[in-house]
Amino acid sequence: MRVNLISMSGGKDSTAMALLALERKTENLRFVFADTGHEHQQTYDYIDYLESALNITIERVKRDFTREISVRRANLCKQAATKAHYVRKKNKATGKYKKVRVRGWNNRARVRALNVLHPTGIPFLDLCLLKGRFPSTKARFCSSELKHNPIGDLIVNELESNEVYIWQGVRAEESKDRAKLPELENVGGGLWNYRPILKWTWQEVFAMHHKHGIKPNPLYTQGMGRVGCMPCIHCKKSELKQIANRFPDEIDRVSHMETLVRLASKRGESSFFAADKTPEGKDRLKNDIVSSMPLIHQVAEWSKTTRGGKMFDLFAAEEAEISCSSEYGLCE
Ligand code: SF4
Repeated sequence: MRVNLISMSGGKDSTAMALLALERKTENLRFVFADTGHEHQQTYDYIDYLESALNITIERVKRDFTREISVRRANLCKQAATKAHYVRKKNKATGKYKKVRVRGWNNRARVRALNVLHPTGIPFLDLCLLKGRFPSTKARFCSSELKHNPIGDLIVNELESNEVYIWQGVRAEESKDRAKLPELENVGGGLWNYRPILKWTWQEVFAMHHKHGIKPNPLYTQGMGRVGCMPCIHCKKSELKQIANRFPDEIDRVSHMETLVRLASKRGESSFFAADKTPEGKDRLKNDIVSSMPLIHQVAEWSKTTRGGKMFDLFAAEEAEISCSSEYGLCE
């Protein structure tokens, strides 16, 4: 039997793909939503809305890091304290060498980490506590751990007795890499990647919603170019500005995560966004200053500025009140 697995994110593309599958009366459909615990409430509500509007069941899968955290705690308790030592490092700007203290795990850091290293039931936060850091463009462990792995477990179970088609809502116009992807691809054994909306434009995606009387996720009318984690580590400056103006509670929530993850890290340093997210952060990196990484509140303030972060955008706060800021022209 062929099983058609559709991963729903609450975004426009996966919704259009689900509508296409239902329109074609595709058999053996299985809808799944991988919950990172770091999405906006409107996305959770939207998944509920899709279930009732389309009369389908969307399975929720969520990683549980309880066991990994307990192993990590045991290891931290066992490890012997490492002494702080120093290395010579060249300052790129001045060309001079200086002694830099390399901080390893010491008893104080270990106790500090053990105090916060407890499962919270929020997969995104638990994963960051476990790693003692946030994901980044270079270390994008969030999508593999929180989205691919839990859905992968479902696929493995299905593959025991079925052929599995994974419907992927990627589109060629999104990037050069995506444009090179084939529509149908065998990835080994009975596992296939199927990309039915590869050639679609974003206008066709929203037209599909309209055709079936399905509302798009309301976040698209509130300045979000994409729907997923709020914010995503790849969040654009303009999108962060919208989040900071419209959903300041989300910025506070991430700030709380930063506090916990900093405490769980070896160096007592960690920030949601990469150190080079802001121009000031880039300068600090150039000069090898790795302490005082820009925290979410600083980055959110920077997002409201113009001219490379030097000027505060006086209209930013008002903009959220007066326009719906949809990247896709969904304003009424
Ligand atoms: S949406 Fe962004 S932050 Fe969330 S899992 Fe994907 S890459 Fe990571």
